[in-house]
Amino acid sequence: MKAIIPPGVSESSFNKAIDEFRAIVGAEWVFIETKKVDLYRDAYTPMDPEDDFYASAAVAPKSTEEVQAIVGVANKYKIPLWSISTGKNLAYGGSAPRMTGSVVLDLKRMNRVLEVNEELAYVLVEPGVSFFDLYDHLRKTNSKLWMSVPSPGWGSVLGNTLERGAGYTPYGDHFGKQCGMEVVLANGTLMRTGNGAMEKSDSWQQFKYGFGPYVDGLFTQSNFGIVTKMGLWLMPEPEYFMCGMVHVRDEDQLQNIIDTLRPFMLDGSIDCAPSIYTGTFEASFKTVRSKYKEGPQPMTKQELRSMYEDLDLGWWNVRLSFYGDEVIAKHNWNKVKTAFSRLPGVSFEMNEFSTPLNEGALGYNEKLQAGIPNMAEWNVINWGPGLSGHMDFSPTCPLIGKTAEKQYRLFSKMVQDAGYEYVGGFVGRERGLLHIVPLPILKDMPEVNQRGRETVRKMVDEGKKRGWGAYRTHLFLMDQIAESYSFNEGAALRFSESIKDALDPNGILAPGKQGIWPKSYRQEDPS
Ligand code: ADP
Repeated sequence: MKAIIPPGVSESSFNKAIDEFRAIVGAEWVFIETKKVDLYRDAYTPMDPEDDFYASAAVAPKSTEEVQAIVGVANKYKIPLWSISTGKNLAYGGSAPRMTGSVVLDLKRMNRVLEVNEELAYVLVEPGVSFFDLYDHLRKTNSKLWMSVPSPGWGSVLGNTLERGAGYTPYGDHFGKQCGMEVVLANGTLMRTGNGAMEKSDSWQQFKYGFGPYVDGLFTQSNFGIVTKMGLWLMPEPEYFMCGMVHVRDEDQLQNIIDTLRPFMLDGSIDCAPSIYTGTFEASFKTVRSKYKEGPQPMTKQELRSMYEDLDLGWWNVRLSFYGDEVIAKHNWNKVKTAFSRLPGVSFEMNEFSTPLNEGALGYNEKLQAGIPNMAEWNVINWGPGLSGHMDFSPTCPLIGKTAEKQYRLFSKMVQDAGYEYVGGFVGRERGLLHIVPLPILKDMPEVNQRGRETVRKMVDEGKKRGWGAYRTHLFLMDQIAESYSFNEGAALRFSESIKDALDPNGILAPGKQGIWPKSYRQEDPS
């Protein structure tokens, strides 16, 4: 196979750039051999090999100064850099770049927890700090702070926050709890946001907004800078914790479930991020599919019902948790339980825990609701025969039962029509829902993956017609989804492009990320 180099860059410029990267970080931290660069491919790619996303090389700096020097070289030779923190962006592309030929800027060696502030409940971290690293650090230092973790919890705190990932505690909107960033801009300038913009600030992690425009959001899901430090608020350990599930037997109760949750989510009686998943999703942690169905044919509704019955699961399973003062937590749960009791075919389980938690006594659901990283949800990818991953379509939905019902019916039918089971569900946000609709990826079965890609593309189009945008996406859908946000001839994307052109005239930072292409690439898609 011909060596991959960035588009529009000569081989000699590329080689010079690689030599200069070596001089900055040391030869052992520049990866150019196919065997090593292949590690940056999307391990769960839905693409055929000829359309996949390939890096040309990778460089792994140890410090912000090295990042700045790398950016200098990238500008000199017009080398596109694709920044990753730990590169575990499962179902959305892993560590692979949007544009083939980009050099992966792997920040995992910058992995210091720079500060844990117990009094004001925040941390300051570098990109390579994983959720597991931070959790271990907090335990070792006997911290009284709780994290919020996505599922699975193997990625980085900073990368997940930049992608606007979701956790399940009251701090589950990770970007919502971010405070203060340090960013290397495309021209190599080091900038701090919020109060960090002062020479000396004693409140960088306490005030998000600083003075003037609030810009932190510009560095999330974007290609405007390389974030080298980030502040994040953590939750003070509550005195008491309850976690459990509401199981609802019937498929047609989704609307009532959402409408039951809404007032409690709005008035704060429920302050966690509840998840509302199908029994199939839950079954994947408890059993193997072959016990109930051999072969790849999707399970019929009757087969699903009897499996759920056997496993004491509902068609819908609402995971909920309550925190804080014991009397208040119990009171809130009782209100919620009473409201759910009006639904037909409902059953409850709820467990109580005093703090500090004894981790050994917790199941995966409780761990997720208590912000303890774990890999339990990984089991979903072992569900179908031969499954090696999933590609997710992740539309947003208002917190309104009727709309959630419509969205579920439309997308679950599209999944079924493509020949698969719907193994998805919703995660609650303050006033909305993130809907996760996975489609299977089967290694060595290109026709299955192609059908999956076509189905997802159709879903994006159907979503666009109804105003349901994706909140996050895999590399292969970035352009299509960016275009689905098309109000006033795509004014939002044009705005992003103007910022891109002003900040990054050489187009060196993550070309194509979120559909934002630098000017020089915009005439044609170079990938
Ligand atoms: P994680 O391993 O935490 O799941 P990744 O490291 O894969 O997350 O990052 C997810 C995406 O976020 C990357 O593909 C990249 O587009 C962006 N990203 C990650 N880290 C940075 C960073 N430090 N600066 C700018 N963008 C980043």
